[in-house]
Amino acid sequence: MKKIAIIGGGIIGMTLANYLDTDKFEISLFDDEKNQATKASAGIISPWLSKRRNQKWYQLAKDGAAFFEKLKTDFDLTDEVYEKCGTLFLRKNSDLEELEKLALERRKNAPEMGEIKVLSKEETVSLFPLLKPSESLYLSGGARLDGKAYLAHLKKRSQARGVKFFAERATILKADEKWEIVHQGESDVVDDLVLCPGPALKELLSEIGVDVDVRPQKGQLLSFKTDFDTKDWPVLFLEGAADIIPFQEGEILIGATHENEKGWDLSESEAAFFDLTEGIKPYFSESKLIEFPYHYRVGTRAYSADFSPFFGPHPAFSSLAFASALGSSGLTTGPYIAYLLAQYFNHPETKWDYSIYQKDINTYLK
Ligand SMILES: Cc1cc2nc3c(=O)[nH]c(=O)nc-3n(C[C@H](O)[C@H](O)[C@H](O)COP(=O)(O)OP(=O)(O)OC[C@H]3O[C@@H](n4cnc5c(N)ncnc54)[C@H](O)[C@@H]3O)c2cc1C
Repeated sequence: MKKIAIIGGGIIGMTLANYLDTDKFEISLFDDEKNQATKASAGIISPWLSKRRNQKWYQLAKDGAAFFEKLKTDFDLTDEVYEKCGTLFLRKNSDLEELEKLALERRKNAPEMGEIKVLSKEETVSLFPLLKPSESLYLSGGARLDGKAYLAHLKKRSQARGVKFFAERATILKADEKWEIVHQGESDVVDDLVLCPGPALKELLSEIGVDVDVRPQKGQLLSFKTDFDTKDWPVLFLEGAADIIPFQEGEILIGATHENEKGWDLSESEAAFFDLTEGIKPYFSESKLIEFPYHYRVGTRAYSADFSPFFGPHPAFSSLAFASALGSSGLTTGPYIAYLLAQYFNHPETKWDYSIYQKDINTYLK
């Protein structure tokens, strides 16, 4: 039996702990829970109509969204954790036809987008009663994931599989052909090591003399506790404004900010409240939603110079793999990346090629 350690217990680390083969590996997971993007996230799984032109990212996000069908079955995800609630796109100017054309084109390679339909004013309001009557584009395949609930669910499952958890910060050393994990004065030697610590990958890799291009980005969102019956309400993409993500039991999120210059800062700011709530007002018939009690969620995303995620084994050490820079779509891509990393370790005889999803990993290493 080989020993493997995972550092980082966000969506990647926790999913990986559930896909690694326990007949082959004794698994330990280290997570200091300091800056978890996954717990703070908004939860949108709907990448298909993104304006990003990066084809490799799109392929990864598209396959990541499609992978949720398997994830839901493999891990028995309930509607509280993951639900295909659909997504609604609203526009200030009437360019819904263009958007519909793009959606129909993209669906040829992404049947999981489901039904695509331009909704009348009445149909829009019947799906999301707080909106001003206006036409919208509906995709039935859009979904939302509760990041926090997902982690809690997967932690329980992995504990049942014998994964050992350490709620501690870990550092690493190279120990001949193996890896030494140092945590709270103790040290463990493992055969294989996976680093998925978000932006802290830079600090961790520097401990073994590797420089990587990854940076922290602050993200804030607002969580409103309303008395609306939000069950099955779709996610809203509002042109030029924040996104709206309804969860069950009346919780509605408005988010999120992208603050590159604020890095690791986790403070709540009034400016964020203003930015997130002002833009949405023209789309709603009354400002009732933002009058409910709310709290902030603040997290730190990781991003790279070209805003692309990267993952896989280190080119010089086959026993070391990492994943980071998932940016603002990491809930969508994270589980699939974790699955691919699990396959890499579970089946070392197979040669894996990730070039449809990312540039050469050396692009991000110095
Ligand atoms: C406000 C916000 C909204 C978002 N909304 C969406 C969305 O709607 N849809 C979407 O797809 N994505 C969204 N994202 C992005 C997504 O949440 C992230 O890309 C994804 O969760 C990153 O997962 P991860 O596993 O890489 O890292 P994380 O979730 O950050 O987990 C990494 C963990 O490693 C720990 N760690 C770091 N260093 C060490 C160490 N040395 N020892 C032990 N532990 C360590 C950290 O403390 C952290 O707990 C959002 C993010 C934010 C912040």
